Amino acid sequence: MNRIELLSPAGDLERLKIAILYGADAVYIGGKKFSLRSRASNFDLETIEEAVKFAKEHHARVHVTVNMIPHEDDLIELEEYLKELERIGVTAIICASLSVVKCAKKVAPKLEVHLSTQHSTTNSKAIEFWKKMGVDRVVLARECDLSEIRSVSESTALPIEVFIHGGMCISYSGRCTLSNHMTNRDANRGGCAQSCRWKYRMLEEETFIHDSKHLFSMSSKDMMAARYIQSLIECGVTSLKIEGRMKSTYYVATVIRAYRMLIDRIYEGNVDEEFMNKILDELSRSENRPTAVGFYEGQPKACDQLYGINGAGVTQEYIASILDYDMETHMPSQESF
Ligand code: SF4
Repeated sequence: MNRIELLSPAGDLERLKIAILYGADAVYIGGKKFSLRSRASNFDLETIEEAVKFAKEHHARVHVTVNMIPHEDDLIELEEYLKELERIGVTAIICASLSVVKCAKKVAPKLEVHLSTQHSTTNSKAIEFWKKMGVDRVVLARECDLSEIRSVSESTALPIEVFIHGGMCISYSGRCTLSNHMTNRDANRGGCAQSCRWKYRMLEEETFIHDSKHLFSMSSKDMMAARYIQSLIECGVTSLKIEGRMKSTYYVATVIRAYRMLIDRIYEGNVDEEFMNKILDELSRSENRPTAVGFYEGQPKACDQLYGINGAGVTQEYIASILDYDMETHMPSQESF
């Protein structure tokens, strides 16, 4: 039986290495082109090549996001880019447009094509369609509950990937134009200004509808689905995805390590309440917003939202990376920081 994949985000090469060393089976990264979250720190082709080499040495895989909604001009150079990713040895691309799916199948057939959650796939009929189009894996919409995930997984032969941890959109993922409207920054082309998390006052013309003193936000709590991992394994899900390509090295290390330990213990049949509480405690150290279980239990309730607060305060302080340690004392030496 194939073990479920733990899929980590990585915003740069350091975080990619940390993710793999801390237990990720696969890592997803953004290239400098064709990716949401197009930032200067994204991977250029040379760095993707280095990332793939490191991943292969550690029996891990690299997925590259090609998930922007491309406009006509964006298609220029796409073929060359996909051919390069295939040559480098990238395992999969994650895309959100049929144009990218078709292009990849034509020019880089060794690349697996994974359909992004941006496409809001919520049922097996849609997956059947994408299978015919050549898609090799579907990342389900975060808006599916556990029974839907089970039903979809049982009714399709395509591998299914689901989110288990990280930030949520208040809108259907990929269908939000709030940022476009407020800032002219397109969330579907990597520019989301996270406008849902701003602090607002509500007025009808000159009259406050809401209390004039109290600000409100439209943000939801982050997802933390550790208690559902066993069920997701039993459902036959292929991959468990962590959100957060912009998150810190500390976040990647803590979250990946916690889920690695949990998954391994589930396969050993050895998870009791005490162990689960340790995992939950560990995961809570990485958070900078309160967490809920997303849609796993059905529609989120008012208590799963962050109406009143932004909640982005960091609760832990990152002080150092230990690069080496004394084999006898098991303590880091001064030079190893
Ligand atoms: S503004 Fe908020 S809901 Fe909209 S895409 Fe950005 S994070 Fe998601």
